[in-house]
Amino acid sequence: MAFSRPRSYVREARRRVAPKRQRIPGIIERLADTHPDAVIALRFRDPVELLVSVMLSAQTTDVTVNRVTERLFTKYRRPEDYLAVPVEELEADIRPTGTFRQKARNLRGAMRMLLEEFDGEVPERLEDLVRLPGVGRKTANVVAAERGATQGIVVDTHVRRLSQRLGLTKQQDPAKIELDLMRLVPRADWPRFPHLLIWHGRRVCDARRPRCEACVLSDLCPSSRVAPGSYRGASATRSPPSSS
Ligand code: SF4
Repeated sequence: MAFSRPRSYVREARRRVAPKRQRIPGIIERLADTHPDAVIALRFRDPVELLVSVMLSAQTTDVTVNRVTERLFTKYRRPEDYLAVPVEELEADIRPTGTFRQKARNLRGAMRMLLEEFDGEVPERLEDLVRLPGVGRKTANVVAAERGATQGIVVDTHVRRLSQRLGLTKQQDPAKIELDLMRLVPRADWPRFPHLLIWHGRRVCDARRPRCEACVLSDLCPSSRVAPGSYRGASATRSPPSSS
């Protein structure tokens, strides 16, 4: 069942909570308390492995990517290694991650560009990263942030859904959502903010069945389905993690 409320309810709920700029510190603080383990779930040891993992994670789970890369990274250690095998072999090695032909093509294109233009190193600037084949703004933001060179805010499906439900943006387009969030979220919080929303989305604010009754943000959220004043504390939201 889709999560939707009548328009009049939404208008009333938006009046019930404070303006977004006043709510954002509380949202970040409570989510940080609730999800202290909110970090990237992909496993990697260096920037090339990070880039490959994030490229493989499109339309699959982090668990699947980690299972595939555990073997992949023992065989492919440097950018040259991705070009040294027939493309069919690379396709077979990443097949469980889905859309493997396109991903293999993009991986080889990206590795070739790393070698030809960046001395085999993964660049840190977003404008360089997005030139790599198969690397969009979301992937570039993840790679830059994990390298300590945050230049924007990662917007994936969880960040998009929660930002909308929390009334932080009215936009649908990820690039416009990112701009809204960059204006709202203190720069020091840009790296952790998407992880907090992603983990909260996985554990509590499910796409189809948000558990508002167990949510630490229920009194800060215009989309909450529980009565005002029923905030139950951070421990109420903890549940075993899942990955998507
Ligand atoms: S109150 Fe409900 S809709 Fe709002 S963030 Fe929490 S779970 Fe999601």
